[in-house]
Amino acid sequence: MSTTHLPITDSLYRYVLEQSSDGHDPLLTQLRRETQALGNVAEMSISPNQCSFLSFLTGLIGARYAVEIGTFTGSSSISIARGLVPGGRLVCFDNDFRYTSIARRYWFRAGLQNKIELRLGDAHQLIPRFRSAGLLDLVFIDADKEAYDFYYETLLPLVRTNGLIIFDNMLRGGKVVDPVRRNEPATRAIDELNRKLASDPRIQSLLLPIADGLHLCRKLERGY
Ligand code: SAH
Ligand code: CA
Repeated sequence: MSTTHLPITDSLYRYVLEQSSDGHDPLLTQLRRETQALGNVAEMSISPNQCSFLSFLTGLIGARYAVEIGTFTGSSSISIARGLVPGGRLVCFDNDFRYTSIARRYWFRAGLQNKIELRLGDAHQLIPRFRSAGLLDLVFIDADKEAYDFYYETLLPLVRTNGLIIFDNMLRGGKVVDPVRRNEPATRAIDELNRKLASDPRIQSLLLPIADGLHLCRKLERGY
């Protein structure tokens, strides 16, 4: 066993959730169940631990204005919206009506419908046309992997100093270090982006091995 990091077993993961204030949120648990009925795609939802982490970070930076690309059935959007200051707003982008109608239902159930706005359509088209109503505090990117860098470059100028851009699935189930599978197009795109972020002078970057890997980027003063 490595001494520098601890392999997370199922029981250890359960322990981690139990010893966190919102590790077992009833609404997110119900949403998870309903999402599982969709089949294999359910794996796309962020994990319970990531949900807590997103709420935590959003609250920590006092975020008021956030954007999410890749909403699916709503786990991450609910987590971010819950962390926003009163009167805060989250704009969500997704191109799937069926998935996001589940999300919408849960936004209402969570009482978050006034904080979250959905823009339904292809983010490749919508993101460059997005006119933000001020600087963004937080951006969460979890849609098509090959477009992550495009979303990053398009939105970074709209993020305030010390604001966050967060990317999900940055370890690609371990494929980023698999000599063969790292060459798959989506994994190659993610690997290239991880490397770029690590040496990008506009941000401070931190690749965290939580679930399938979150890459956190804090925009620096000179990030313009
Ligand atoms: N963050 C979500 C999971 C996102 S799964 C959660 O925590 O539950 C990825 C989502 O990205 C899917 O819902 C898919 O419809 C959406 N997506 C993929 N490519 C897209 C594109 N080009 N434009 C908009 N949405 C896209
Ligand atoms: Ca994801």
